[in-house]
Order: sequence, then structure tokens, then C-alpha cells
Amino acid sequence: MFKAKKRFIAGAVCPRCSEMDKLTIFREDEKEFRECVSCGFKEQMFLQSAPKELETRVNLSAEEKLAEVQPVRLVDPKKFN
Ligand SMILES: [Zn+2]
Repeated sequence: MFKAKKRFIAGAVCPRCSEMDKLTIFREDEKEFRECVSCGFKEQMFLQSAPKELETRVNLSAEEKLAEVQPVRLVDPKKFN
């Protein structure tokens, strides 16, 4: 049963199973959710346009952002040579 179109988030890493390119994003009841097709992880996304909601989940959001940023770290120059 399809409630909404799901889009894959390119390069995103699932905070639960650490699989890349398994996270989808979709809208439901005017909220953004992301869901992992690999392990079933699902969570509402708190966008910057909703600062009041973000405030209550700031700790968790910060951890998740960190988990997503880590794989995109700068390339080690030694591996380039
Ligand atoms: Zn997952």
C-alpha cells in the first residue's frame, strides 16, 4: 500500500544498520520521514523550517547528523599517491 512516493537519498547512511543508499525519504501527514529499506529503520525528519520541534530532539538529531557526515570525510592524501 503506497501512501507516498519514496525517494532514495543518495549517499546517505542508515544510522541503525550503516548501509549506504538504503535510506528513503517520503512525506506523510505533511511531515518528512526517512526509512531504511534494509533494516526497517524509520524516523521523522526534523527540518530547519521547524525549529520548535527540532529543539526537543536536538541530541538525537546531532548524533544522526554526525553519523551521516562521517563517511563524507576528506580523502586521505596518502591513498591518492
Ligand atoms: Zn538500516
